[in-house]
Amino acid sequence: MTLREQRYQNGMRVPAIAPWTGEAPLPVRVTRRWLAGLGGEGLGYEGELPTDRHRGLLWERVPEADGEGRAQIGLVHGPRRRRAMNHRLCQVCFTPAAAAGEPLMFLVAGSRPITTGDRLTSPPIHAECAEDAVRDCPDLADAYSAAVVDRASSWGVAGLAYQQATLKPLPSRHKTGLTLVSYDASVVELRWILAVREAVTVHGCTPVRLDDLPAESEAAGALRLTPGTGGAQWP
Ligand SMILES: [Zn+2]
Repeated sequence: MTLREQRYQNGMRVPAIAPWTGEAPLPVRVTRRWLAGLGGEGLGYEGELPTDRHRGLLWERVPEADGEGRAQIGLVHGPRRRRAMNHRLCQVCFTPAAAAGEPLMFLVAGSRPITTGDRLTSPPIHAECAEDAVRDCPDLADAYSAAVVDRASSWGVAGLAYQQATLKPLPSRHKTGLTLVSYDASVVELRWILAVREAVTVHGCTPVRLDDLPAESEAAGALRLTPGTGGAQWP
């Protein structure tokens, strides 16, 4: 588990998953290549590195330079978001969002409640960190929805679905421009996806209002919640 120093900018705590100007994506070219693990030809990078794939899928390549330059509040650093999601870390402070087996809190933009079966692409969050996120994150300024969930299960990714013939992304029906693909999808689908976000499904959801949560001093050792800054909720 990576522990990360808390960083501040203009008096504001910078969420762990926010990118910095020193982490601007480098130009990279996609190509077709044989993917032994997926049993056929699929999407790859020219000069592909082992770190470009997770669970066999190609991921957007983003440099890691946490703290270099200026923080870009409201944007998301894909690899840190993936680590937070996979290790159930709070997306703001990057420490465990809850003790193992304990409920997790998720926070998403929009007023639609989080319900069982939803696929979420924003990592969990602590209640006290959620208060910061709601105050500081432009995506959450208009409306947000929070829930405590009994269980979050690995599901798949949200990414750009490439067209085999043209090596261009297909249009998405979702406002994010991304397409959801389950890890259980056909290998043909998985070969041509460029993953951008990890997606989990949530079960046993209890909506919460951040105003109603106990203060940190009262909640010590009890429930901790996690916010989903800048994340999308997938109906
Ligand atoms: Zn936190």
